[in-house]
Amino acid sequence: MHTLTLLLGSLLLMSSASVSMAQTDEKPRVTVTPVKGPLYMLAGRGGNVVASVGKDGVLLIDADYSEYAQAHAAALAELTDSQVAPRFLLNTHWHFDHSGGNGFWGEQGTVIMAHENIYQRMSTRQEMKALGRVVEPSPAAALPVVTYADAIAVRFNGDTLQVQHYPSGHTDGDSIVFFTEANVVHMGDHYFAGAFPFVDLGSGGNVLGYISNVESALKQMDEQTIVVPGHGRSLMSKQDVQIDLTALKNSVSIIAELLQEGLGPEQIAERGLGPEYASYGAGFINEAAWISFVAGSL
Ligand SMILES: [Zn+2]
Repeated sequence: MHTLTLLLGSLLLMSSASVSMAQTDEKPRVTVTPVKGPLYMLAGRGGNVVASVGKDGVLLIDADYSEYAQAHAAALAELTDSQVAPRFLLNTHWHFDHSGGNGFWGEQGTVIMAHENIYQRMSTRQEMKALGRVVEPSPAAALPVVTYADAIAVRFNGDTLQVQHYPSGHTDGDSIVFFTEANVVHMGDHYFAGAFPFVDLGSGGNVLGYISNVESALKQMDEQTIVVPGHGRSLMSKQDVQIDLTALKNSVSIIAELLQEGLGPEQIAERGLGPEYASYGAGFINEAAWISFVAGSL
């Protein structure tokens, strides 16, 4: 057990360069994509933001990196013709590429809502071993004001948002947000379109839980559902999610079999999963990191 832990530790360290988010000198820029009705996808550098813009004001799902808050504010000012801050912000999970803008909005009076585990993690010091990074407690203005344990419904701009907690997936505090009227779903980091996902084992995530969470979310979608991925710059469909989930499940079977044969995660990474997974490992999480997440989850 200790050997395995050590091995995983060193593998994660090895892969941390490719896991860590690239620093860039680029001026923060946000791309706005109309989704449906009052909904827009705002893509900066971190997780995709969804904005509901209408007669009730503005509600945001997620808040990107803190450095991108001003760029999001500029994009919203253009969409709304005003400088009024959003009334609500809901975080899909605690990671700083989804909650970095919390403080910027919280200071302007936006009410932040999130699962109670997000409050727990953001209000205490977190060590993210997989990224080799320590995250200090967030200032009070960045913390969720309204928290929930299992689910919360939000009625806004003519839609009902069903916000459902999916435990032990990407982290222990992720929610998936269904806009039930618009038939739009924001998957948060339960969907990295066309890529291996980051599964934060140190924050209570687990690859098997991740897969069963996505399966359960798929049951609430139909062929018309518009899917906003946590990462990936295009709007996706139920079929896209199914295709990527099948690839993840097949890769988990391959890795599980090789572990059973006695290979370690490093040896599996050296051997490789096969050319069909090359594109999945080309993003933020490479194949070696994905193998280590799977091995650490089984
Ligand atoms: Zn995340």
